[in-house]
Amino acid sequence: PITERLKSIASFLPEGAYFADIGSDHAYLPCYKCLRDPASRAIAGEVNEGPYERAKKTVHAFKLEKQIDVRLGNGFDILTAKDAVKQVVIAGMGGSLITSILENGKQKLKTVERIIVQPNVDERSTRKWLHQHQYSIVAEMILEEKGHIYEIIVADKKAESLHLTEEEYLFGPVLLRNQTEIFRKKWQQRYDKLQQIIEQMKKANIINEKKVAWFEMQLKMVEEVLNNGK
Ligand code: SAM
Repeated sequence: PITERLKSIASFLPEGAYFADIGSDHAYLPCYKCLRDPASRAIAGEVNEGPYERAKKTVHAFKLEKQIDVRLGNGFDILTAKDAVKQVVIAGMGGSLITSILENGKQKLKTVERIIVQPNVDERSTRKWLHQHQYSIVAEMILEEKGHIYEIIVADKKAESLHLTEEEYLFGPVLLRNQTEIFRKKWQQRYDKLQQIIEQMKKANIINEKKVAWFEMQLKMVEEVLNNGK
């Protein structure tokens, strides 16, 4: 039951990957990758018992115990210096949760060459975090599955990273350059939503000027992108 979303995430892992999948749930992603690429190895991390048990079950069902180690624990706590994983995947969570997992575990990133994230919301904050920690965005993908639009962000460790604009943080530097129909659909939807929010805030007399100003700035950026692409 591997989804297009997880397949797409796997496509950004190299041959012979050695990666940690944090918040792995069923461990579908590591199982998919390790079945197709016997040279790959993975550590699947889960903070909750239920998903941890599910992950162990899937790994056992595919007889992948030699390639995949399932561990119970919070974020990067499950990794030791000895593991020295080369890639990290954090997918299917909110951007701020992903960012906090990265922030709390940043000492464990010394050997990590590539970080792949798939935030369900608030992609902007994960891009910012990656950029501020010497991970440069090298690839991005946007896809729609079962009515949801997902973004995948791939960042590699680089000594220096190019300056990113506010627009690039919001829309994604790669996605902005090659605007697809799904990209435009997402931002059209966001545009309508932003307008609604601003209107409601004004109607309810919410005097959080900073917040209103930030929403209005976003609205302007979205408007520009939608108009420029025409
Ligand atoms: N990564 C899979 C995917 O993309 O399909 C599963 C996503 S699932 C919605 C999110 C999972 O992350 C849940 O199983 C949850 O238990 C786990 N999780 C949430 N916070 C976590 C943390 N701090 N450390 C490890 N796992 C976490």
